[in-house]
Amino acid sequence: MPAKSHSDRNFNIKRYREGLLSGDRVILGRALTLAESDRSQDRARAEKLVEEILPQTGKSIRIGITGAPGVGKSTFIEVFGKYITSVGTKIAVLTIDPSSQKSKGSILGDKTRMDELSKDPLAFIRPTAARGALGGVATTTRESILLCEAAGYEVIIVETVGVGQSEVAARGMVDFFLLLMLAGAGDELQGIKKGIMEMADGIVITKSEGDNVSKANQAQAHIRHALHLFQTPESGWLPHVLTTSALAKTGIQETWQMIELFRVHAAHNGFFEAQRTQQQMAWFHAALEALIKDKILNQSKRVLASIEKQILANRLSPNKAAREVVNKIKL
Ligand code: GDP
Repeated sequence: MPAKSHSDRNFNIKRYREGLLSGDRVILGRALTLAESDRSQDRARAEKLVEEILPQTGKSIRIGITGAPGVGKSTFIEVFGKYITSVGTKIAVLTIDPSSQKSKGSILGDKTRMDELSKDPLAFIRPTAARGALGGVATTTRESILLCEAAGYEVIIVETVGVGQSEVAARGMVDFFLLLMLAGAGDELQGIKKGIMEMADGIVITKSEGDNVSKANQAQAHIRHALHLFQTPESGWLPHVLTTSALAKTGIQETWQMIELFRVHAAHNGFFEAQRTQQQMAWFHAALEALIKDKILNQSKRVLASIEKQILANRLSPNKAAREVVNKIKL
C-alpha cells in the first residue's frame, strides 16, 4: 500500500525531486499518491513538484492501451512489458479506472494483475489513479505520466478499461493509441464504437493461437478493410492491424516494432511534436475551465440559489440567467 498523503506533509519537494530523479521507486509511489490527493495543500505541493521536474519529462513514448474487459489487456501488458524490460528498457503502467472512485472497489483492483511484471525491477505498475470525477482522473494521470518520466521510465503505458469516456481521456494524453480486439466477437459485443477504432494507431487482435489463428487472421483482414474506409488520420499513419497471443508470446515484438515505426514516422513528419503541443494546450484549457467553474460555483452559491428559483418560476431563461451570474462574479 502506498503511504497516505497526509503523512507526507513534512516530506519536502526537494526530497521528492531528488528521489524521483534517482529513480527511487518508493518515492515515485509517494509522489503519485500526492498527485492523487484531493486536499488543496497536497494539490499545491503536487503542482509545485511537477513544475520542478518538468525539464526532466517528455522523453518517453506514451502508449494508451484499451479494449473491452476480458479481451486480454492485463495479460498482454504483462507479456509486452516483460519484452520491453528484457531489452533493458524501463516501463511504467498506469491505469485509468473511473469505477474505482464510485464503487470504492474497482473493476481492476479485485484481481491479481500483471503479477510477474510487478516483480520486475525495471517495471513500475500503478493499479489505479482516481481523483474525483473523470476530469480529476485525467489530470492525475497526466501528472503521473510526468512523474514516471522524471523517474526514468522510457515507456509509459496508460491502460483504460472499456467504459466509454476514459478512452477519450487516454487518447488525449498518449502518443500512440492501441486497441485490443477479440476475433469473432462482434464489435457491438465488445463495446467498441467506430469512434474508438478511429482513434487507434494500432489494433491488436488477441488470443491468436491454436484453433483461434484462422479466426484471428480473418478478423485482421476484415478490420484492415474497415480502416481503409476511414479518413486518413492527421498523423498520415494508417493504423496497423496485428494478431498476437500473450499465451504463445507471438506478435509481441511485432507490436513494439510497430510502435517504434510510428515514432520514426511521426517524428519525421512533425506529427509527434505537434500532437504533444496540442495535448499540452488541451490540458491547460481543460484545467482552466475546471478552475473557473469551481470558482464560480463556490463563490456564488447564494446568487445561484436565487437565480435557480427565478428560472423555475419561468421568470428568467437559463441562458440569460447564466450570463447574469457571470456578470455578477469577480474572478
Ligand atoms: P482484461 O480484462 O482485458 O485485462 O483481460 P485479461 O488479461 O484479464 O484476460 C482475460 C482472460 O483471457 C483471462 O482468462 C486470460 O487468461 C485470457 N487470455 C489473455 N490472453 C490470452 C491469450 O493470449 N490466449 C488465450 N488463450 N487466453 C488469453
